[in-house]
Amino acid sequence: MKSYTGVNNLGYQYQVVEQSAYNGPKEKACFVTLARNSDLYGLLRSIKSVEDRFNNKFQYDWVFLNDEEFTDEFKRLTSALISGETKYGLVPKNHWSFPEWIDLDKAAKTREEMRAKQILYGDSISYRFMCRYESGLFFLHPLMDDYEWYWRVEPDVELFCDIDYDLFKFMKDNGKKYSFTVSIYEYEETIKTLWNTTLDFFKEHPNYLHKNNMMDFVSDDGGDSYNMCHFWSNFEVASLDLWRGEAYMKYFEYLDKSGGFFYERWGDAPVHSIAAALLLDRNEIHHFDDVAYYHPPFTQCPVDENLRIKNKCSCKPSDDFTWTGYSCTNRYYTVNKLQKPKGWHLFAS
Ligand code: GDP
Ligand code: MN
Repeated sequence: MKSYTGVNNLGYQYQVVEQSAYNGPKEKACFVTLARNSDLYGLLRSIKSVEDRFNNKFQYDWVFLNDEEFTDEFKRLTSALISGETKYGLVPKNHWSFPEWIDLDKAAKTREEMRAKQILYGDSISYRFMCRYESGLFFLHPLMDDYEWYWRVEPDVELFCDIDYDLFKFMKDNGKKYSFTVSIYEYEETIKTLWNTTLDFFKEHPNYLHKNNMMDFVSDDGGDSYNMCHFWSNFEVASLDLWRGEAYMKYFEYLDKSGGFFYERWGDAPVHSIAAALLLDRNEIHHFDDVAYYHPPFTQCPVDENLRIKNKCSCKPSDDFTWTGYSCTNRYYTVNKLQKPKGWHLFAS
């Protein structure tokens, strides 16, 4: 394997690994991170891990978005680690505020109630702006116009295995539109009316429900109720056109108008997951079982030792969340009739 030193757009040096397998045209793809300036140091850990395990072989661009201007320090220190181009954008005010149809008193009452019940982020306004933005708006930022695919990265995440192929190219070549590493059950308190609002939407737009959808992943009773299963959206590799298309744009607008992002605390993870499960062909959703990933407090670590050796993994398989009872990934394999890795049940505690 040859390597040489390159210089990125801000003049920082980076190491490029050259190997014939990585040659060929790059996809129109980028990393995207929504972050505050105060997230800087947790984010540097994430970036370094993603660069070392994946991106130094591919040099994809990285888009950073923030509801405030990024500091020069933030730009300097992030750009210094990234082998692709870096871009920094400001979220427009109307994408980070209460829409005019929201009853502010009603929203405040919810936050008060959720604070009393100690629901995670239940009293936070900014968390709700974040969830709404990640659900339905980030892909409309002009900096995202150059791209067809994105990989979402958050502060304090880590990759534990080398990724020696281009995940974006994999998505495209295999007809995938949405992918995940970790899946989990949502707190019901935060999304009490999300399912019924979704059913109302599909009653109005039955043509958007895909014939070969993955309803059996999100519902145990043929669609009457939601089973709380969702893909953990702090990691997503997905098609931007999935969200920019008419079906999802209408779905998000419908959810947004109902006010649930503020009268409850709808997360972008259940919103994206329900949309992917119902709007897509089930074969368009992919589980990256070989992407060993950590976002506090859960880890995906491949249970197959051969895979861990081949990809130089540093994670501990007994930390794996994927095959435990709190994860929905076992269900994902079952409903899609996919083969589970050898010995998965040994980790199903
Ligand atoms: P959690 O993973 O659900 O605990 O939520 P995080 O605190 O990790 O937030 C999710 C993502 O949104 C992360 O990438 C954060 O950096 C980002 N984020 C959260 N709140 C804000 C905010 O108020 N402003 C900005 N610009 N980014 C935010
Ligand atoms: Mn996070």
